Amino acid sequence: MAEKKLPFSKEQLVQIIEQYPTPFHIYDEKAIRANARDLLKAFSWAPEFKEYFAVKATPNPHILKILHEEGFGADCSSLAELILAERTGIKGEEIMFTSNDTPAEDFKLARKLGAVINLDDISHIDYLERHAGLPEMLSFRYNPGPLRKGGNAIIGTPENAKYGLTRKQLLEALAIVREKGVKRFGLHTMIISNELDPEYFIETARMMFDLALEVYNTIGIRVELINLGGGIGIPYRPEEEAVDLAYLGRGIRRSYEEKIVAGGLHPVKLAMESGRMITGPYGYLVTTVLHRKETYKSYVGLDACMSDLMRPGMYGAYHHITVAGKEEWPHCCLYDVTGSLCENNDKFAIDRKLPEIHTGDILVIHDTGAHGHAMGFNYNGKLRPAELLLKPDGKIEMIRRAETIEDYFATLDFSKL
Ligand SMILES: *Cc1c(COP(=O)(O)O)cnc(C)c1O
Repeated sequence: MAEKKLPFSKEQLVQIIEQYPTPFHIYDEKAIRANARDLLKAFSWAPEFKEYFAVKATPNPHILKILHEEGFGADCSSLAELILAERTGIKGEEIMFTSNDTPAEDFKLARKLGAVINLDDISHIDYLERHAGLPEMLSFRYNPGPLRKGGNAIIGTPENAKYGLTRKQLLEALAIVREKGVKRFGLHTMIISNELDPEYFIETARMMFDLALEVYNTIGIRVELINLGGGIGIPYRPEEEAVDLAYLGRGIRRSYEEKIVAGGLHPVKLAMESGRMITGPYGYLVTTVLHRKETYKSYVGLDACMSDLMRPGMYGAYHHITVAGKEEWPHCCLYDVTGSLCENNDKFAIDRKLPEIHTGDILVIHDTGAHGHAMGFNYNGKLRPAELLLKPDGKIEMIRRAETIEDYFATLDFSKL
């Protein structure tokens, strides 16, 4: 069971809101740091284990800095994400560049920064060479296709996913880049998203260790790095269970020993590029009830909308909701909790049992610390909200201001009308 508790009381929230009006996302620094340490501890046995935090999950330099202080690198997939990592002080091979359908300028910056480049396709070898030159170290993203079951609504099944090289292409690509002077090699895969079953990741690690052995035995290349990707899920629903990181670490260790050590390939550096499980549970969208509406159903209308948190509208995803100060009230009433977009799927919850809600109540939407603010947009002229950091000493720091109406109009020139 995942406890859905808040790291602040209603009184604290009211004080915060006096200074920073709702809606906003707020992140719990202490909990993020503790979680980062748990992950590194679970893999402390692995040679030079590195977690490259998936920047797209929470692209805020203050969050990246906290994670960098804990020893994490950055997994970037675009020019902007590379710039964010660079400006946060994350350098060289602390950055893994896992992109797809990549523009030349992105490859150029990745090369300039000395990031570990992870190619998504065999044709990208020539493209990278032409636009930025080949680096000394190169990694490739493996897509096992029908060889591996799995996938879900977010990422699709491997054989329908646009990412990665086939097994045959991967072996060919490694041989080609060796010919072209690449000296150090990495393997990568990411075939699942928001998965709570640790066995899935242990199986994926086995698959990658087998692949490393095949690479060694068929073309004589010893890979230096195996990146197991991201995709570890979080218990969005209270009845779900978080992935036991220590168990995951032990399971992967066992297959590392069975495959990599026994096969004579030790040491191989292990890496992950999780985003969701690093920050997801430690972010909250705080919002105020503007309206109550009774028609064929009971509606609670918030000052937040789908542009503050797209997952419920886009995937039908569950996000737990706490009515601040009513934690102990009976869940008596059935509500649709909505935003103000002219889109009927702008609903944070449908038929959700909650305590009786009044206008002015503060609703806290849980698990918005990853793929929350980051997926925001400006449809319907909606402005993206602020991001706040709850510091370990209880102080609040604004780490991104809310957008203003001037920001929204900044790309238009009314004088040309
Ligand atoms: C999105 C993504 C991640 C992070 O996924 P999470 O589900 O947030 O862990 C990691 N690697 C790649 C290549 C991705 O596209």
